[in-house]
Amino acid sequence: MAVAYKPVWKCIYCGSREGVLSKEHIVPFGLGGDRILPRASCEDCREKTRKIEEFCLRNHLGNTRMALGVQTRHPKERPTEVRFEVSEGDGSTRVEKWPIERLPVFLVMPVYPAAKRLHDLWDGPLNPPNGTEWLYISDQEALKEISGDGGAVKIGSVDFNTFAKLLAKIAHGFLVCELGIDNFQPLVTELVLGKTDEYWPWVGGTVDWLIPEPTEDLIQVHSYHHKSGYVVVRIRIFPNLGAPTYHVVAGKIY
Ligand SMILES: [Zn+2]
Repeated sequence: MAVAYKPVWKCIYCGSREGVLSKEHIVPFGLGGDRILPRASCEDCREKTRKIEEFCLRNHLGNTRMALGVQTRHPKERPTEVRFEVSEGDGSTRVEKWPIERLPVFLVMPVYPAAKRLHDLWDGPLNPPNGTEWLYISDQEALKEISGDGGAVKIGSVDFNTFAKLLAKIAHGFLVCELGIDNFQPLVTELVLGKTDEYWPWVGGTVDWLIPEPTEDLIQVHSYHHKSGYVVVRIRIFPNLGAPTYHVVAGKIY
C-alpha cells in the first residue's frame, strides 16, 4: 500500500520552487517502491533521475525483475521472450531467444569498498576490493542450455557509477521522508544530478554492522545515525537472494 508523505513544495534535489513539481517515489516503483513524496521534484531533476532509474531497472535489473514477476509501470511492454547475447569461443556472437516463463533468476550486483567517509568514522575492518561483481544464478542448467558448448552469456549490464547514483537517490529521498528536507545537510544531491561522478566518498558496500537480516521484501532501507552527526542509509535490494548490502552517507545533522 502506498504511503504518501506531506508535499515538500520544493525540489528535493536542487531546491527549486519553480514550475511543475512532481511526486517522487523514494524507491523506484519497479523495485516495489510505495513511499511517495508529493510535489518534490522539478522537471529538470525528474529527467535526470528518470534516466538513472531507467538504466538500472531495465538494463541492469530488467531480467531479474521479469524472472521474479516484480511490478512494472509498463506491463504491456514486457516481452514474451528474452534475447541473450552469447559469445562463442571463436570470438563470434549470436543471439539466443529464451521464453520468459523459463527465465532463470540472474542477478549481478556491484561490490564496492566502504564509502571513504564511513572509513573515516569507523575503524573496524572494511571491505572487499573495488571492481568486483556479486553473482546469483538460480538455475545453472538453464544457463548452460542458453550458452551452449563453450559459449558465454552476457547476463546483465552493471554500471558501478549509475548504480551508485541510484543508491544515492534512494538514500536522499529516504532521509527527506524521515528527517524533513530542512533538517539535515544533504550530501549526495550533486551526485544524483550528475554534477560529479565521485561516488566513493559517500556510497559504498557492506560493512558488517550495517547488514540487515534478509526478509521477503524486494528492498530494505534503514538509516543509522552516527554520533558524528552523519546519517548513513543502508540499502539492500533483493535481500532474499542474499544480495549485498550498500550504504550511503547521505546527510549530516546540522
Ligand atoms: Zn530540481
